[in-house]
Amino acid sequence: MAREIYAYKCRLCGTLHYPFRMVCKECKQNDFFEFDTVPLPKAGTLVTWTRVYNLPAQYEVATLGLGIVELENGMRMLGQLEISEPELGMAVIGNVEVVRKEPYDDYYGMVFRAA
Ligand SMILES: [Zn+2]
Repeated sequence: MAREIYAYKCRLCGTLHYPFRMVCKECKQNDFFEFDTVPLPKAGTLVTWTRVYNLPAQYEVATLGLGIVELENGMRMLGQLEISEPELGMAVIGNVEVVRKEPYDDYYGMVFRAA
């Protein structure tokens, strides 16, 4: 089964949030946790990116590309990049993978590759 990362959709006005918020940022009415979970889309375009060096040992790679991706529904999210030469505006496709290993836990996040 493919893993998903979920956005939270306001049941009152339909606005999507990610990460989770206690109150809807749009209608500000929704303070009763009236949210539905919907999987984030995987396709998007690269808005900005950076490369991180000297990572802690829990990361299994020496350098890490991090990017902000605008998903096809207009939401923006931070993800890991598996792209050797990232270019702004390029089409990318995400996959949910282990991005960090701790002694008792694996952490999942979105990893983007060139589409
Ligand atoms: Zn709302």
